[in-house]
Amino acid sequence: MSSKYPVVLIAGDGIGPEVSDAVVEVLKAAGAPLEWISCDAGLAALGKGKDVMPEETLDAVKKHHVALKGPCTTPVGKGFTSVNVQLRKKLNLFAAIRPVRSLDGVPTRYEDVDLVIVRENTEGLYSGVENRITSNVVTTLKIATVEGTERIAKRAFEYVQKRGRKKLTVFHKANIMKMSDGLFLDSVAKLHKDFSDVPYDTQIIDAGCMKLVQDPTKFDVLLMENFYGDVVSDLAAGLVGGLGVVPGSNIGFEDAVFEAVHGSAPDIAGKGIANPLALLMSSVMMLNHMYEKYGDKQIHAAAESIKAAYNKALSDGEKTGDLGGSLGTQEFAKAVISRLS
Ligand code: NAD
Repeated sequence: MSSKYPVVLIAGDGIGPEVSDAVVEVLKAAGAPLEWISCDAGLAALGKGKDVMPEETLDAVKKHHVALKGPCTTPVGKGFTSVNVQLRKKLNLFAAIRPVRSLDGVPTRYEDVDLVIVRENTEGLYSGVENRITSNVVTTLKIATVEGTERIAKRAFEYVQKRGRKKLTVFHKANIMKMSDGLFLDSVAKLHKDFSDVPYDTQIIDAGCMKLVQDPTKFDVLLMENFYGDVVSDLAAGLVGGLGVVPGSNIGFEDAVFEAVHGSAPDIAGKGIANPLALLMSSVMMLNHMYEKYGDKQIHAAAESIKAAYNKALSDGEKTGDLGGSLGTQEFAKAVISRLS
């Protein structure tokens, strides 16, 4: 019999607890051998008198190395540093990997979208360094380092090579931000020497976005700095059915935190209608990561079974409201559970 593997669970805010509950139920029904270590972050932590990103939560991820995270809300304009920025920086989760794929049963303008966005997660405009220069002038610093740009370029090339993907396209604005985006491009060119079998090209981001919405099937793996990655992830989600269907991972050298691309969706929180699929897909990415790490076949079987079950549920027309269906969060989870092999 398999042992149980510890996973830190951060349920999050807004729709976070609803979608996390649904996902935990599906994982349990699929026989995933996991032991949940529940930790707080965001408003949930503040409500208990803790910091928005408590040290104990960071320590738990450092100890167990894997976490599943719901979306967290950072109170705006109250001096709090973003929960997500803190988590990604303090744990050095420098690569966000976000697969964006067309799904059977989710009709959209394009049928064969199969993109992966690799977003640098710790630098760029998300440095958190902002200054008031005068009463009328404020600045936000965009940071690019050799270390940060080289490690994300290496990770992106490795991803393309290891997964047998076709090519890497780098989105940038080095024509304007000659130094920061220029360094990003220089690092990609430098690292390409170690991955000369991986085709890569570059696109100025504005033209790249236009081409992406005109025909996303022309792209494969996209690499970009932090802010561009944030925006392009949501844009790409819109090509395949929205934020309810795009999963993600934040990966460093030691630790990995899996979470959907979407936020806490305060407009629908507490209504029981949020789509848990993006977090469920993120949990499948997590199981695959754990299978690579531990080699336990029970983990692999659970991942395969969940993936087949949600694909079947969607093609049977079992969908939440954001995808044109009528199921609530729990009902969709039950539809998946009833299709587990
Ligand atoms: P959002 O992703 O929460 O919502 C955008 C729109 O998509 C809303 O209309 C929402 O109802 C819809 N939506 C999102 N997820 C959905 C789901 N699973 N099912 C159905 N519909 C869904 O973006 P926002 O409104 O810009 O941000 C809300 C809050 O979330 C902010 O506080 C923001 O900082 C936070 N946020 C957190 C994360 C994270 O924790 N990783 C990411 C993005 C935003």
